[in-house]
Amino acid sequence: MEHQEGERGTRTRVREADGQRLRSLALAALLLALTGIGVSVAAAARTAENAAARSRGAFKLAAMQAQANLGLEVQRDTDLLAGIAAFIQESPRYRPAEFRRWAADTRAVARYPELIAMAATESAPRPGTCPVTTLAGQPTAMRYATLAQHSICHGKGVVALSTQDPNIVDFGLSLGGIRFLGQSVAVYRTATPPATAAGRRRAFIGWATIAVDPATLLGEARRNLAGLGLALTTTIDRRLTFTSGTLAHNAVWRARLAGDLTETVTGTVQGSSIFADGSALAALAGGSVVSVLLALTLFLLGTGRARAMRIVADKTGELAFHALHDSLTGLANRVLVMDRIGHALARCGRGGPPVAVLFVDLDGFKNVNDTFGHSAGDELLRTVGARLDRLIRDTDTVGRIGGDEFVVVLEPDGGGPGPELVAARVLATLAQPVTLAGDIEVRLTASIGIAVGCNLDTEELLRDADLALYAAKRAGKSRYVVFEDAMQAAIADRLGLELDLGRALDHNQLYLVYQPTFRLDGLQVSAVEALVRWQHPTRGLVAPDVFIPIAEESGLILEIGRWVAAQACMQAAAWRSRGLEISIAVNISGRQLDEPGFVQDVRAILGSAGLEPAALTLEITETSLMRDPEQVAVRLHELRDLGVRIAIDDFGTGYSSLAYLRELPVDALKIDRSFVSGPASSGDSAALVNTLVALGRTLQIETLGEGIEDESQLQRLLDANCELGQGFLLARPAPAEQIEALLVGSAGTEPVDPNEDGIPTS
Ligand code: C2E
Ligand code: MG
Ligand code: MG
Repeated sequence: MEHQEGERGTRTRVREADGQRLRSLALAALLLALTGIGVSVAAAARTAENAAARSRGAFKLAAMQAQANLGLEVQRDTDLLAGIAAFIQESPRYRPAEFRRWAADTRAVARYPELIAMAATESAPRPGTCPVTTLAGQPTAMRYATLAQHSICHGKGVVALSTQDPNIVDFGLSLGGIRFLGQSVAVYRTATPPATAAGRRRAFIGWATIAVDPATLLGEARRNLAGLGLALTTTIDRRLTFTSGTLAHNAVWRARLAGDLTETVTGTVQGSSIFADGSALAALAGGSVVSVLLALTLFLLGTGRARAMRIVADKTGELAFHALHDSLTGLANRVLVMDRIGHALARCGRGGPPVAVLFVDLDGFKNVNDTFGHSAGDELLRTVGARLDRLIRDTDTVGRIGGDEFVVVLEPDGGGPGPELVAARVLATLAQPVTLAGDIEVRLTASIGIAVGCNLDTEELLRDADLALYAAKRAGKSRYVVFEDAMQAAIADRLGLELDLGRALDHNQLYLVYQPTFRLDGLQVSAVEALVRWQHPTRGLVAPDVFIPIAEESGLILEIGRWVAAQACMQAAAWRSRGLEISIAVNISGRQLDEPGFVQDVRAILGSAGLEPAALTLEITETSLMRDPEQVAVRLHELRDLGVRIAIDDFGTGYSSLAYLRELPVDALKIDRSFVSGPASSGDSAALVNTLVALGRTLQIETLGEGIEDESQLQRLLDANCELGQGFLLARPAPAEQIEALLVGSAGTEPVDPNEDGIPTS
C-alpha cells in the first residue's frame, strides 16, 4: 500500500516535472519567436532606410550628372564664343560675308543644336541697326542700347554687365515670344583688355555674341536622365527661369554654374518607411516566419531526441560546407580552390594534361563599393559569382579567394574549351550590365591572367596567373593575358629599376640638363627648361620617359621632384647673379601637385636658392591637370599667389576645355610636339596649332611650340603667330656650362647648337 502510494507519488512528480519542462520549453520558444520578430522589424527598418539612402544617393548621382552635363554644354558655348572673339581679333576688318563663311566653316549650326544666333558686331555701331548674323532666321529684331561702358546689340529684354568681368555680358531675354540666354564678350585690339573705361573704348573692336535656346540646352543636359526635372535661373537684373522635364518632386539639388546661372535639379526619391520598400517588407515577413519556425524547431527539439540527432547531423554537414565555401557567393573558397588545383597538378604529374588556372579580377570594383555602399558591392560579387558558376562545366571549379578576386580551375580532361576561349567567355558575360538594388545599373569589366602548367606547385601556378593578371591590368584592363616566362623577368627588372632609383639620389646618379626656349620673332632665348637624367651604374643613361613613370608609381617622384626644383632654382639664381637675366622652367608631376605641402615646399626652395618667384615657371602636363580639376585649380591659385608662373605642358594630348583653362592662372601653353613634328603634324594638326594659338591669344595665354626639328616646322609656327618655341633645331638639352656659354654668346644672335644631350635622338 505504502509502496503503491510511493509509485503513484513518483509518477505524479514525473508527470509534473514533464509538464513543467514542457511549459518552460513553450515559454522559451515563445520568447525566441518574439525576439526574432523584434529583430526582423529592426532589420526591415534598416533595409528600408538603406533603400531610401540608396535612392537618395542615386538621385544625387543623377543630379550631379545633370549638373556636369549642363556645365559642359555651357562650357561648349563659351568655347564657341572664344572662337568668334578669335575670329574678330584675327580679321578686325572682316565683312559680314566673311563672318558667314567662317560660321559655315566651323559648322556651328550643326555642332551646337541649341544655337539660335551668333553675332560678330562691329565697333561704333549706328543706333537702330545691328549687323547680326542670325541662324535659322531668328531673332532679327535686335537693336542697340547703350550700357555704362559700351554699346551692345540686344532686344527688349534684360541686359546687364556680368558681375564677374566688365568685358563679359550675360543676358537672359524674352523677345517676340522666344526666350533665350545669351553671352557677349568684348573684343579689343590689344591682347589684354585696357584697365580703364576710356582705354577700353579706344581699343574696342567689336562684340562676339551668342544666343542659345535654353530648352534645347536643358534637354541635352537631361538626356538619359529620365525622371529628373531641370531648371536654369539667371538672376541678372531680373529673374528668368527656364525649365525642362517634370518638376513634381521630393528631392532638390541646386548648383551654381558659370557666371550668374543657377541650376536646379528635381526628382523623386524613395521614403524610408518599411511599407515603401519591397525588400524591407520581404525582410519583415521572412524574418518573422523564420523566427516562428525556429521557435517551433526548438520546441520539437525539446520533445524529440531522434529529430535532434538528425538536425545535428545536418548542421555538421553545413559546417563542413562553410569550411570550404565562400559565405557570400557560395563558391569554393581559397582552401578548396588550392585543393582542387593540387589534385589536378598531381594527376598531371602522373602523365595527365597540364592544368589551366584563370585569375579573374574586376576592374574598378572599389568605385562601386565607394559609390553605392558595401551591400551593393556584395550584391555585385554574388551576381558575378553566379555568372561564372553558370559559365563553367560541372567538372571545373570556380572560387572566390579574396575581395573581388575569382579563380577558375579548368579540369584537364582535354575535352572542354581551351583556357583562352573560357577567358573570352568570362569577359563577355561579365561585360553585361548588372542591376543593383533594383535600379542602379552598373557596367563593369574584368581583367584575367591565365597560367597553364604541370611541373610546379599550387602556389607557383597561382602566382603565375597573378603575374599575367598584373600584365593584363597594365596593358589597359578589360582583357586576358596568358602568362609567359618573360613576364617574371620584366617584373623583376622593373622592381630592380625601382630599387636602384631609390638609391640614385644618394649616389649622385641624377643630374640636370637644360634646354632653352626661344621667342620666335628674333630667336632670343626666353627661358631654359630643366630636364632630369639618370646615369645608371650598369645600364648607362636611362631616359626620363622610362624612370619618371616608375618614380610616380612608387612615390619616389616627391623626393626627386624636390631635388630637381632645388637644383634648378640654385642654377638659375647663380646665372642671374652673373648678370644673365634668365628664368627657369621645372616639370612638376601630378603626384607632387597632390601633396598638401607642395606650395610650402616651392616657397622654401625659392627662399633658400634666393630666386625671385617670377623667374620660376612650373610645367604641369595637361593630363595631370585633368585628374582632379577642382583640387588642381585651388593649388594653382595658391602658386599664382606665391608669384611663380605656370605653363601647361604637352598641351593637346588631354581633353581640357578652354573654358576651364580660362578659370586657371595659366601663363603659357606648350603645344605638344606631336602636333609640331610628330607623325600627325601635317593637315589637321597644323590647323589645330593655328586654332590653339588663336585661342591662346584670346585667353591671353602665351603659346609655345614643342619639338621643332626643322625649318618648315618653325615656319609653320611663325605663320600661326606662335610666340615661343623649343626644339632640337634651335637647341638641344645640354649641361649647365654649355647653356651658359650659349646665353653669354647669344644675346640676340642666332642660337648655337650645344648638341650634347647624351640621349640618342632617334
Ligand atoms: P617635356 O617636359 O615635354 O620635355 C620636353 C622633352 O622633349 C624633353 O625630353 C626634350 O629633350 C624633348 N625634346 C625637345 N626638343 C625636341 C625635339 O625637337 N624633338 C624631339 N623628338 N624631342 C625634343 P626628355 O628630356 O626625354 O623628357 C621627357 C619628359 O620627361 C619631359 O617632357 C617631362 O615630361 C619628363 N621629365 C623630364 N624631367 C623631368 C623632371 O624633372 N620632373 C618630371 N616630373 N618630369 C620630367
Ligand atoms: Mg616640360
Ligand atoms: Mg612637353
